[in-house]
This record gives sequence, structure tokens and C-alpha cells, in this order.
Amino acid sequence: MKRVLITGAAGFLGSHLCDRFIKEGYHVIGMDNLLTGDLGNIEHLFPLNEFEFHYHDVTKFVHVPGQLDYILHFASPASPIDYLQMPIQTMKVGALGTHNLLGLAKEKGARMLVASTSEVYGDPLVHPQVEEYWGNVNPIGPRGVYDEAKRFLEAITMAYHTYHGVETRIIRIFNTYGPRMRVNDGRVLPAFFSQAIRGEGLTVFGDGSQTRSFCYVDDLVEGIYRLLLSDYHMPVNIGNPDEVTIKEFGEEVLALVGNPDAKLIYKDLPKDDPKKRKPNITKAKEILGWEPKVDRAEGLRRTYEYFKTVVKPKTTTV
Ligand code: UDP
Repeated sequence: MKRVLITGAAGFLGSHLCDRFIKEGYHVIGMDNLLTGDLGNIEHLFPLNEFEFHYHDVTKFVHVPGQLDYILHFASPASPIDYLQMPIQTMKVGALGTHNLLGLAKEKGARMLVASTSEVYGDPLVHPQVEEYWGNVNPIGPRGVYDEAKRFLEAITMAYHTYHGVETRIIRIFNTYGPRMRVNDGRVLPAFFSQAIRGEGLTVFGDGSQTRSFCYVDDLVEGIYRLLLSDYHMPVNIGNPDEVTIKEFGEEVLALVGNPDAKLIYKDLPKDDPKKRKPNITKAKEILGWEPKVDRAEGLRRTYEYFKTVVKPKTTTV
């Protein structure tokens, strides 16, 4: 049985990856320090013999007994609000955590896939973003702690590949959504769904003309799985190129939830908020034979089913 270590296992993406690798017949070692993760996301895996959980902070020396075939490094705060509140931890997990895990991969002869991000492109001047674009990042802005940590993550991963011959894979993840996103993580989709369900204003930042391109989590997980098993060590964008303005996105959530008390309201645009983002996925198509299958209407319906279970409409007290 192949053994895979997944860091950030109790998080949104990490928990879906644990599910997928269990389904594919792996022994999964989930690791998390629960800074932003939630054990509820992986509770259903605890009874399984093929799953074990290690409560550990990967910025400290990481040890896992026995053979390891793969390491997937998905531990990190991942929303702008999170990294504003936890800037040092964000830098440490992207930098020190990645270093520790690469050391572990070298020691075990394991292949390591690291989660990078479209944030390495910053507020991009090339649109859609291709992997060859170097980005437009403000290192000392509020997003700098995340963006630069992830850029360091890519650099050190390439260095371990080149100098130590470690087998590495780098995925650049674009906005992804689905069940198990943390309700209060501040990202646009959990914010809009909870506000719409509660009948509050949907907080559109700026005039809502900025764009994002949202990928459903199952599609992303498929892309990660294919990249891990491929023989390609350069960065690959995985995301859904279906671009939408944040205002239109809010209107879609309003229409789906159908709460007459909810409406769009406008707030200040945060500093360095990228004006547009859309992946060029030619590489993923050519190298991995991958493209997204779930369109936004279907993905939003599935995600709404989840949010209905974790967010309740406001009840009027008498
Ligand atoms: N956004 C918004 N209202 C919110 C949260 C976010 O309008 O309550 C906007 C945000 O300004 C950005 C986009 O939605 O332009 C996506 O934000 P998110 O925090 O989800 O992730 P980002 O793609 O910026 O990392």
C-alpha cells in the first residue's frame, strides 16, 4: 500500500485530498496544527485503518515513521483575512514548513507536490495568466506575506529538485470553492452564502468589477491527482477559466438562495486586491489531459447544499 502524507489535512482542500487518496487505495497520514483547519472535515476518516492523524505544526521539525511515497504540502492560512491576522504563521508555513517537508521528502525518497497559488502572479499585468509570467507582487503589502511565502515555496522546491534530485511537483491553484470552506474565513464565497442565507447585505468590495475565475473543488482535486502522478516538475496552473465579476457572482448567489431580505451592498476595496484573475490552462490540458467539468451553476448548487447545513437563517426573537 502506498503511503501519502497530506499537510493541512483538516482544511478545505486537505480534507478533500484525504478523501480522494483513501478512495484510490492509499494509506493517508493527515497532518495539521488546526490553526485554520477543522477536525470536523476529517472526522469521518478516523475510524478507518487506512487513515491516521498527526497533530503537528510543520514549521517545526517533521518526523513520520516508516515509508513515505508522496507528500502533499497543503498547510497554510489561505484567505486574505487569515493572512492579515496571522502574517508570521503564514510566512513560516510557506517557508520553514516547506523546507522541513522537502527535507523529509529527500530523506524518504518521496515525491513531493507543493500547493502554490495564483497569488504568485500578484495583481497581474498579463491576462489570462500563463505559467511563464513572473507576476506583479507587492512584497510589503498586506498580501505580501502569503505571496512571497508561496514564491519562496516554489523557489526552494525547484532548488531541492535541481540540487538534491528530489521529485517535485508545483501546482498553482486559482480560486477554488465547494463544501467545507470555512464559513467565516472572509473569502467571497463563504461571505456571500452566509450573508444571503441570513438575509443580510452581500458585501461587495469596491464596485465589484474585479474578476475571479472559480473552480469547483472536485475538479481541482482531479488536477492535483493527475499532476502528482505525471512526470512534469514545472509549475502548472489548475483552475477554471470561466471568469466572472464579483458583482455578477453576488447576483448569482442572490438568485440561488432567493432570500428577499438579502441584497448587494458595497464596501471599500482592500489594498492590492487583484483587479482580474483567470488561468490559462493550456499546460494542464496538454500535459495532464485535464480540464474542469463542473460549471459554476452546478458547483454553486452543490456548495449551497453544504452552506445550508452550517449557516442558519436569522430567526426573529419575540
Ligand atoms: N470580496 C468581496 N466581498 C467579500 C469578500 C471578498 O467583494 O466579502 C472580493 C475581494 O475583494 C476579491 C474577490 O472578492 O476581489 C475574491 O476575494 P477572496 O477573499 O475570496 O480571495 P482572493 O481571490 O482575493 O484571494
